Amino acid sequence: MYRSHHCGQLRALNINEEVTLSGWVQKSRDKGFVIWVDLRDRYGITQLIFDAERTPEVIVNMAKSLGREFVIQVTGTVIERTSKNPNLETGDIEVLVSKLTVLNEAKVPPFTIEDQTDGGEELRMKYRYLDIRRNPVKNNLIFRHKVTQEVRSYLSSQEFIEVETPYLIKSTPEGARDFVVPSRMNEGQFYALPQSPQTFKQLLMVGGMDKYFQIVKCFRDEDLRADRQPEFTQIDCEMAFVNQEDILNIFEGLTRHLIKSIQGKDISSFPRMTYDDALQTYGNDKPDIRFGMKFGELNAVSQHKDFGVFNSAELVVGIAVPGGNSFTRKEIDSIINWLKRPQVGALGMIYSRCNDDGTYKSSVDKFYDQEDLAQWAQVTGAQAGDLVCVLSGPTDKVRTQLSALRMELAERLGLRNPKEFAPLWVTDFPLLEWDEDSKRFHAMHHPFTAPKPDQIKLLDSDPGAVKANAYDLVLNGNEIGGGSIRIHDKATQALMFNHLGFTPEEAKEQFGFLMNAFEYGAPPHGGLAFGLDRLVAILGGQETIRDFIAFPKNNSGRDVMIDAPSAIDAAQLNELHLKVDLK
Ligand code: ASP
Repeated sequence: MYRSHHCGQLRALNINEEVTLSGWVQKSRDKGFVIWVDLRDRYGITQLIFDAERTPEVIVNMAKSLGREFVIQVTGTVIERTSKNPNLETGDIEVLVSKLTVLNEAKVPPFTIEDQTDGGEELRMKYRYLDIRRNPVKNNLIFRHKVTQEVRSYLSSQEFIEVETPYLIKSTPEGARDFVVPSRMNEGQFYALPQSPQTFKQLLMVGGMDKYFQIVKCFRDEDLRADRQPEFTQIDCEMAFVNQEDILNIFEGLTRHLIKSIQGKDISSFPRMTYDDALQTYGNDKPDIRFGMKFGELNAVSQHKDFGVFNSAELVVGIAVPGGNSFTRKEIDSIINWLKRPQVGALGMIYSRCNDDGTYKSSVDKFYDQEDLAQWAQVTGAQAGDLVCVLSGPTDKVRTQLSALRMELAERLGLRNPKEFAPLWVTDFPLLEWDEDSKRFHAMHHPFTAPKPDQIKLLDSDPGAVKANAYDLVLNGNEIGGGSIRIHDKATQALMFNHLGFTPEEAKEQFGFLMNAFEYGAPPHGGLAFGLDRLVAILGGQETIRDFIAFPKNNSGRDVMIDAPSAIDAAQLNELHLKVDLK
């Protein structure tokens, strides 16, 4: 028996009991006549005491040579501590050791195994197993476990069935780049790792599974942006005989359940907003609605004077920054410099201070009088004490810039409270989006998304205007889920492929299996997928998904611990029928 209790378990009630514990040496303090050792395992820390009077000498000597992170087993008696530690659950007691076994020695760890460690990111990644011993990482993994348990139990209670779909599938050209796997047994042929189980879950609906979910790894070979992982986890879901309303309701239920069971918070409403409105009101399709600063379009009240910058702009748009009139000139300059950084790329910013006495003071007083500025305040919803910030230029660009500014100011003003949860459905996404590089339309969501039935007729005349029954669930400014009602008949699917630039032969070659299935009684269906890593991070009140993944990749897509990706030897290449020119 390695242990009778774990290291977070013993209390005053256990005093006088003989116990056996196993764990890691967190630290030891040698006072000569007495040695204290903090013994740690997943559950907590228990203080061990070895003293010259009560502990056999050989054991005291052994204790003196224990290093940090040694794995040991001890047997001893639980005694009351003379100085109690109220910060530790086991802080009322200590274990007077009578027997000590070193189960394994340990080298000095390259960084301290403490909540606040001295190890840098890269070093901690390389020794991730040591990082996992630290509370912040360990607790995140336990937290993630709780979330996935709640997901499974909720969806099971709603009659969803968890089904596994294959990881070795067929490469398809749509979407992101595939990771591919060469086939040894089929020379010159490759599997792809799924970007998502999309087509399989649809086939499960054709198969009559009715309600499916899976907590599943997905793989996308995209250029990595900060906090993206080439492999990530989805809560993937699909339902048959549903319309959009049914789906939104079910997954509102799941999200509400998670926020309640994990954070104890009741979410009363899941507001909805169309994609077009989101862009107009917040400048992006995943607005953080924990705070205001809605966009006010100012063309009508700013293009009637001699200010050329505004007059020539497609869009003039502003936000009212609450309390922003207290910003000093220097603070405003710092905001303008922030906007001018290449990452944001604005040329400048016009502003108008809303004074407490009801007057205004703007950076363009030369052009605009008090009446004009009062209208700006009215359109942006500014009150006395606020600052109206205005940008102008081409619509898409300006919206993106002002949206970035809105988030930045919210951050600076402390309006993004991680303990508050503000979900939002964004609906009515466009079906297609124009891609300048390839000069053709791409599916905005994916090629299996259904156009709104009354808009199919627009596909020929104005494809960019067609809206889909596609929706995203946004939480605190992050897209945490997205999905759609799917096409379930062969003719519409063929029409869609045609609009995406596939010849009928290409469509058949790539997606024949799905089109065939649609000929054998496919039910109407739809679904969505949540990004689990991000969802867990947000529920945990944090931003970085890497902190909630046991063995994440770094920003270059590498696993620095196992050193992957790596070269393979010539024999292996040969077997896979691959020739690689090693330069
Ligand atoms: N498969 C989609 C995705 O990965 C989600 C869905 O449409 O259900 O984004």
